[in-house]
Amino acid sequence: MIVNMASTATPDEINHVIERIRECGFQEHVIYGEERTVIGAVGNSNRRSEIEALRAAPGVADVIQIAHPFKLVSRQLRQARTIVDVRGVKVGGDELVVIAGPCSVESEDQLMETAHAVKAAGADMLRGGAYKPRTSPYDFQGLGVEALRFLKHASRETGLPIVTEVMSETDVEIVAEYADVLQVGARNMQNFSLLRKLAPVSKPILLKRGPSATVKEWLLAAEYLLSGGNANVILCERGIKTFETATRNTLDLAAVALVKELSHLPVLADPSHGTGLRSLITPMSKAAAAVGADGLLIEVHPCPERALSDGPQSLDLGGFAQLMIALGKQPRRDAKAA
Ligand code: PEP
Ligand code: MN
Repeated sequence: MIVNMASTATPDEINHVIERIRECGFQEHVIYGEERTVIGAVGNSNRRSEIEALRAAPGVADVIQIAHPFKLVSRQLRQARTIVDVRGVKVGGDELVVIAGPCSVESEDQLMETAHAVKAAGADMLRGGAYKPRTSPYDFQGLGVEALRFLKHASRETGLPIVTEVMSETDVEIVAEYADVLQVGARNMQNFSLLRKLAPVSKPILLKRGPSATVKEWLLAAEYLLSGGNANVILCERGIKTFETATRNTLDLAAVALVKELSHLPVLADPSHGTGLRSLITPMSKAAAAVGADGLLIEVHPCPERALSDGPQSLDLGGFAQLMIALGKQPRRDAKAA
């Protein structure tokens, strides 16, 4: 339920509505706009009719139902777009944000070389997996805490904020200590206990869409984070499973455009996992930008043929620089040479 306060509503009238919302067993989410205050009443209570009756309360302009099962992520509740500020990089603002780096952190040298190169090419953030969700238990599983230390070092050297995946509830604390953005991988999108554990964390969360998740399920997963207190959520479309086998996944760009309509949260596209094919990264990056994606997640490796994971979908350093030129992203003037 959304309670729209009149533009003339006084602080006392707003507080009264908040008290009534609590009395009815709902949680209030107050959005103070430039012109008026909007109060979301969210929760599980059978006293909805009492909130509807608040239409008659002083200072209330209107009470409306939220049409979707996701509430706090909905644009119905919040028209203004959420901008997630990651150490000065604004995700969801006017600029296309590019997050680049290796699928897995394999060694300090591999990460440093990549970090300097992507920074020089104009990347905004550095990615790299320390804990890897691999389909086979025999594949490289990541360097864990050692990789987190390398990421921190690379961040200090380049100034780039770090995005890295947290796979398990037990690693939340340590990953939050090192990372600027905690990624929830596609396979964990509906790991509700992990989502609950991440909700109180003070760092932004990058929530990937599950390979078989509907848009509704994806937004409800984000709702777990917002309802638990973390408003800094970045969504990322990374391809879904379809009958098509020519590409690794099917990058669902319609979902990017749709989620921008349905939600105020920023949405990224990941053409690396979304296609599995290096040659498709540039065209699908341009397409993602054209449909309104707020940014891109791109896998980059100094020598993709030697990569311990996802080599075929990784750009080499020169390929990434070319992509950035194709996207019209300016290399940073303060970047150290790669
Ligand atoms: C990744 O970003 O390296 C990754 C494992 O992605 P996803 O969870 O989308 O498969
Ligand atoms: Mn990968």
